[in-house]
Amino acid sequence: MSIKIENLVYKYMTGTPFEKTAIDDVSLEIKDGEFIGLIGHTGSGKSTLIQQLNGLLKPTSGKIYIDGEDITVKGINLKKIRQKVGLVFQYPEYQLFEETVFKDVAFGPQNLGLSDDEILKRVKRALKIVGIDFEKYKDKSPFDLSGGQRRRIAIAGILAMEPKILILDEPTAGLDPKGRDEILEEIRKLHKEYNNTVILVSHSMEDVAKLVDRLIVMYKGKNILTGTPREV
Ligand code: ATP
Ligand code: MG
Repeated sequence: MSIKIENLVYKYMTGTPFEKTAIDDVSLEIKDGEFIGLIGHTGSGKSTLIQQLNGLLKPTSGKIYIDGEDITVKGINLKKIRQKVGLVFQYPEYQLFEETVFKDVAFGPQNLGLSDDEILKRVKRALKIVGIDFEKYKDKSPFDLSGGQRRRIAIAGILAMEPKILILDEPTAGLDPKGRDEILEEIRKLHKEYNNTVILVSHSMEDVAKLVDRLIVMYKGKNILTGTPREV
């Protein structure tokens, strides 16, 4: 699925003395099936940008088209958008709220109205991708796990929905180098298999350059540069 962003502006606390322009007139296009690295210094607007792509944040102005459909219009069905656009937050501890690992990962696919068999299959597969042993962890509370494990489970919850557009905000923060490489490699494999559109957010070019088709570089709320890793 494609993404088209036109003249996007996002201001935090609009109309107050604390108003802060976090996205400053961004226009860009991402083609169906592209694997994008979204990079930039801390505070450059990466998280603010992607949270608008599934309607979590409402743009101050500008347009966002997902597969040609304008998602900034009033009355848009956000549930439908979120089935297409899977977003793993930067702080995934906020994304886990069920009492067991199984329920947390199954939450998304359950909302898709899939059969129990299919849900089980997807949960197992997603946990395998993120390197979490299904039998060992399925009945554990996500809150008893380490930050790295919680991150893996949050990623699994989104993967289990098999979204056409997959957005991961610093998915590997807090993981050791081995865990980081393994997860990124699995996400790359999955992308090859499903040809989904992927946006990988990172403040490290090094981490993503070897994986992605194209890099988009943010600086102070603007997308200042785009190209293949070699070009950038
Ligand atoms: P990082 O690499 O640290 O995650 P980022 O590129 O994701 O950074 P954003 O979190 O999108 O950056 O923040 C962009 C700008 O918006 C920053 O200047 C930040 O201080 C500001 N900002 C972010 N969240 C809020 C908020 N809830 N209220 C006010 N300002 C905010
Ligand atoms: Mg961020």
